[in-house]
Order: sequence, then C-alpha cells, then structure tokens
Amino acid sequence: MVVSIPNLTPVQNASVNTVVERFNVSTDRLKKITEQFVIEMRKGLDHQGATIAMIPSFVSGRCTGEEKGTFMALDLGGTNLRVCQVNLLGGGEHTIRQQKYVVSEELKVGPMRNLCDFIADCVDSFLTENGLGDSNEPIQLGYTFSFPILQTSINRGVLKQWTKGFNCTGAVGKDPTILLQDSFRRKNINVNIAAIVNDTVGTLMAYAYKHPNTTMGVIMGTGFNASYYEDMNNVKKWTGDKNQEMVINMECGAFDCERRVLPMTVYDNKMDRESINVHQQLHEKMVAGMYLGEITRNALLDLVDQQILFGGDSSKELNKNWSFETAYMSTIEVDETSDLSDTGHILESVMNIPSTTLADRQIVKAVCHAVGLRAARIAACHIAGVLTHTNKLGEESIIAIDGSLFEFYPNFEKNMSQALSEIIGEESRSKVKFDLARDGSGLGAAIIAMIASKH
Ligand code: ADP
Ligand code: MG
Repeated sequence: MVVSIPNLTPVQNASVNTVVERFNVSTDRLKKITEQFVIEMRKGLDHQGATIAMIPSFVSGRCTGEEKGTFMALDLGGTNLRVCQVNLLGGGEHTIRQQKYVVSEELKVGPMRNLCDFIADCVDSFLTENGLGDSNEPIQLGYTFSFPILQTSINRGVLKQWTKGFNCTGAVGKDPTILLQDSFRRKNINVNIAAIVNDTVGTLMAYAYKHPNTTMGVIMGTGFNASYYEDMNNVKKWTGDKNQEMVINMECGAFDCERRVLPMTVYDNKMDRESINVHQQLHEKMVAGMYLGEITRNALLDLVDQQILFGGDSSKELNKNWSFETAYMSTIEVDETSDLSDTGHILESVMNIPSTTLADRQIVKAVCHAVGLRAARIAACHIAGVLTHTNKLGEESIIAIDGSLFEFYPNFEKNMSQALSEIIGEESRSKVKFDLARDGSGLGAAIIAMIASKH
C-alpha cells in the first residue's frame, strides 16, 4: 500500500510511506510466522516451560447441547467483571442473567486479596438482587479467569504471570480459585468454584453448545489468545489418560518472545519497553486492543517529530502513554466524510491538538489503517498454525471469536480471511468460518461448571 496525500511534498509523502511500510507484512513473512508457530505449538505440547504454554484445560469431550441446569459464572476479562446466572435448557438453548462491574485500575495492581474481596462482594450483591443463594446447597460456579494458569485439575492451578495490565501482588504462583473461595468463605457466600476456565476455552464450549463443529475458541479483545481440541496422544507432557480429546488453552499471545519472526517495529519496541510486561506477550501486543492504539500513537509522534504531522506540535494528551485508544482507530478507519471530520473531532476534541489540516487527518487515517491491517494479518497465522498442526486443512471448521476488537474493528474479519488465504490457499480458506461468539465465556464457564460438578 502506497500512501499519496495531495497536500504533502514528495519528500513528506515518502516519510509517511516509510512509517506506514514498517507495518507491511508480506505473504512470505506470514508463512514464516505460521511455520514457526507450528514448531512452537509442538514444543509446548512436548514439555512444560515452553514459550507457548499449551495448557490442558481438563475440559474433555464435546458438548452435545443437551446439557441442562442452573449455574453461575464469573468472567474476569480485562476491562470488566461480569457475574452471570445461566440456565442451560438443552437443545442448545439457554437463558442468561448478568451484571457488569468495573474493575478499577487500583484493584488491578493492588493486593490480590482486595481484588478477590471485590469479586466476592459483586457476587454477593448479584445474589441478593436476584433473590438467589438462600438454599443450603452451594451454588456451582465456573470462574473465567483469563490469565495464564497452569492447571492441575478442573478447578485448581497456579497463576504463571499477569498480563493485560493486571499486576496484583500476592497472586503469581498461587491458586486464584483458592484465593477467591477463601473470600467467599470469609463473607459467608455459599458458592463453590467448580471450575476455573480460560475465556478462550469458555468461548469454544459456549459456541459448541449450539454448533458442535466448532474447532477453536479465540479472544480478540483487550488481549489475544486461543484454544482448540487436541488428541491427548499428541501431548507428550500429559501423564493422564491419553485416549481422549481435550481443549488446550494455548496462551499463544506469548508466541515469539524470542523475537525471531514477528516483524517488530521501533514503535512496537517503544510500547513494549513502556508496558508492565517487557519482552512478554509480543504476539498479543501486535494483535490485541490494549496495544494497537499505543503503537499508533508512537508512530504518529514520530511523524510529529519529523514536522510532517500537526505542524510539528503534539499535545499533552497525545504525549501521554496509552492515551490513544484502539476504539478511536475504529472510528477513524470508518470515517468516509470528505473532510474526515470524525477524525478531526478525535484529534482536536479528544486528543486536544489545537488544529488539524486535511493532510494531518489523512496521515492519521493511513497510520491507523496500517496498524489495524497488520494486526488482522498477524492474527491469521495462529489459525493457519492450528489447522496445519491438527491436519484440518481443507476440512470445514468453525472458529468462534469473542472480543470487541474482532466485533468492532472495521474489516478485521475480511483482512484476517485475506491473510489466511495467502497462507493456506483460497481453497482451504473457503472451508474456514469465523463466527462472532459474543460474551460466550459466561455461558461457556457455566457449561464447564456443569460438566465439573457432574463428576
Ligand atoms: P475483554 O477483553 O476485557 O473481555 P472486550 O472484548 O470488550 O473485553 O475488549 C475490550 C477491548 O477492545 C478494549 O481494551 C479496546 O482496546 C478494544 N475495543 C473496544 N471498543 C473497540 C472498538 N470500537 N474498536 C476497536 N477496539 C475496541
Ligand atoms: Mg472478554
């Protein structure tokens, strides 16, 4: 893609193009990334401690859609906490009652005990408001905790590390189920955590409840991660029963922390250095909503410094780390007004740039497009990798995807499909269906709690 903005000199246009081209990912590079991804997947299945953790979720067997009963679910995603009561009706049908609570920045980096107490209080008020929790039998709950947990059973495991801006003290190396169960006990809340669930696994199970052919569950929201069904005979590190299929939580956002194949730019490096998990989650950082705005901001500031953008002046707001949200990029990308007035509004009213020219707005739009396009293209590689590894190329597969980035970012699905076609060929690509599985993790966690409490 070559950008040519009418009111810029050829030299200025060339500088804009230099920035934009840094985000190009060729077909060859996509194939290299995919190849390396398959290698890393296999390492993760073979032994503990690999870059892609490939964590067995203890969720085995497929959904039939006939599962029934009432269960609770918690979803601690990245941005919100959701508390849900799910009624599984059979026939792939369900009803859900839910309430969202905002997790403050203070709770995200404070003591783990405070976060657990907050969650317990939210559950308590949900139960009270909905007239639940009076029976003597404990309510069975599925806890969607979307951070890397090394699981040892369906409701036990230890937190490997924090991601997505969380950094609570007293949690890494501990079992989040035990910590939360302890808060429930102290507050006399009669709830039993039957399962700890990764959001990708929940999304897969939720979608499979209605569409049994679902093969992968993917999250593209604040963070990025995926899960899929694996034949446990292929999992060398697994010491349990091998003759079963189990969902693997890949934790593939950690892919390529060695920086072998991902096309890191200076803007990625700057964002990474200023993040709280330096040199970690590099795949996630190129794809997920939490990071795209910051990468774009870094690229825009480079053009400001070259005196090509905004007459060479930034603003206090634009200078602030993480101030440029990924949602702004969506608005800018869909802006088809002749003077790019929506883009102008974000730059002038939200980012407080005193005034912008049409050329400024066109530059910003081109940079947003480049960063968003790269995210979608790189996101195609893990899907190509899983299809290759599982020998499913050319077979029909449904990929269930949840997350605001996938849902709202303009053309994300189209760009991902295009890249997937470049990697695996159009014939195989045409057999792959991406479906939006909105808020699936609540339903999925309830289904998994049901499976767990049956045993
Ligand atoms: P979570 O990942 O916390 O479960 P979401 O799936 O809603 O929650 O993802 C939230 C993230 O999605 C935000 O951090 C933001 O980066 C991104 N996002 C929100 N709205 C949009 C939008 N309109 N366009 C692109 N990205 C968005
Ligand atoms: Mg979510």
